[in-house]
Amino acid sequence: MMLKPQRPGIPLPVPTIVSAPFWEGCSAGEIRYQCCNDCDAITMNPSPACSACFGPNLRWEASSGKGSVYSYTVVWRPQTPDFEVPYVPAIIEMEEGFPLMSSIVGCDVEEIEVAMLVEAVFVKMSDEITLAYFVPEGRDLPDLAV
Ligand SMILES: [Zn+2]
Repeated sequence: MMLKPQRPGIPLPVPTIVSAPFWEGCSAGEIRYQCCNDCDAITMNPSPACSACFGPNLRWEASSGKGSVYSYTVVWRPQTPDFEVPYVPAIIEMEEGFPLMSSIVGCDVEEIEVAMLVEAVFVKMSDEITLAYFVPEGRDLPDLAV
């Protein structure tokens, strides 16, 4: 069964002043992450302070959108009935060296394995929110209408 992105109607994130640049990146087709100007550490999730030195001098960078599967699980019983199952929440180890929580689509559950190479795809859910999903490298986003 081909894993697909969720359809519009699921509960969506609400950007904050801190996380808004991340969501603006998704709308622009980019995974954006914070780097520290003082110690070069990467901070993810979005934060007002560096996760390593706790300093406030962070800048936003754009990821290549490529990574590999660090861990995943298959959800068959959703927390709310808004979500279609199965879906596969996953921690993606991004090429730049930070973990990102997302979901894997564009393949069968049985194809997924730890260390599989994946790349980001983007699904517009509302005027404000575009969600990042990951597909096996080289695959396309599955057609939502099918
Ligand atoms: Zn720092």
